[in-house]
Amino acid sequence: MIIVLRPHTTQKDVKAVEVHVSQLGYQPHTIRGVVRTVVAAIGDETVKKSLETLESLDCVERVIPIQKRYKLVSREAQEEPTAVRVGRVEIGKGVFHVIAGPCSVESRTQMLSTASAVAKAGATLLRGGVFKPRTSPYDFQGLGAKALGILAEAKKATGLPVVSEVVREADLDLMSDIIDIVQIGARNAMNYSLLEAVAKSGKPVMLKRGLAATVEEWLLAAEYLAKNGNPHIILCERGIRTFENATRNTLDLSAVALAKMECNLPVFVDPSHAAGRCDLITALSRASIAAGADGLMIEVHHRPDEAYSDSSQQLTPRQFAALMKDIQPFVKAAGMKMGSNQQKTGRNES
Ligand code: PEP
Ligand code: MN
Repeated sequence: MIIVLRPHTTQKDVKAVEVHVSQLGYQPHTIRGVVRTVVAAIGDETVKKSLETLESLDCVERVIPIQKRYKLVSREAQEEPTAVRVGRVEIGKGVFHVIAGPCSVESRTQMLSTASAVAKAGATLLRGGVFKPRTSPYDFQGLGAKALGILAEAKKATGLPVVSEVVREADLDLMSDIIDIVQIGARNAMNYSLLEAVAKSGKPVMLKRGLAATVEEWLLAAEYLAKNGNPHIILCERGIRTFENATRNTLDLSAVALAKMECNLPVFVDPSHAAGRCDLITALSRASIAAGADGLMIEVHHRPDEAYSDSSQQLTPRQFAALMKDIQPFVKAAGMKMGSNQQKTGRNES
């Protein structure tokens, strides 16, 4: 930390700041300028007490951290990218994965037909909301336990791992048997007790960025998971709230490039919730790949016009298949390979 003192601070006050710094366990190193003096506090800010309390001293103008507040998930701590393994799928190792499926699991027919279509088009993971965090309490809240049974069938039929959102800690046990990646949604991205509980479940986690979270807040949410023993984290940018209302949210691709630079975790993009409309999904997917995304999460419904939730942003299976073809050259240009869900079967395999 750098402690910037007010202009013309007396020698006595500088001494008092040095004493405070030492008492907090850091070594003070004072640099005197003509007008101003700054005190550098040397020591690991992530393991020692906070120096921010020094801001309460009259002679202190500002306390500036120089280390990142997130540690375990940072590139400073680990330069190589973290890979997250989910069954046969390995995320974050130069293979581009697409998670696809409906916003919500609504019926057996809907989920199974959508799942088989997205698998055929090349999706490597399935999605489907079981418990839905809806803005209005009158809107469809998800089928709950019944949806889990349907997701289990879709998983068996396609052989693909499944991703679904947990909205409360009490549902974790119920979900754990079937769900391969637990999603923390944008609305719960700052629910720290839920983050801790999900971390302790040990399951891979997809952490959406909060509706109004800064990149630092998003990465600190990931740090909660890592600090509680779960390094199997995938970040997902899904658009943030801005003044723009032509789209549902504003896809923040600078956050994707920045997260890839600052943090060692894989980063996905969900253009469906960012745009809120089907006609932008292809362009936003291409741009996400160019910005460095490791994968996409796309909402697909066998009949979007009949969907119980997010009908205007869900692609038809045909549109999804076209998208999967369209992105291939972009994935290649980004130096990645498209993930495949074709199981290699040899003669000797049973
Ligand atoms: C979802 O993916 O189902 C969802 C609700 O997304 P978000 O939390 O990003 O709004
Ligand atoms: Mn949705």
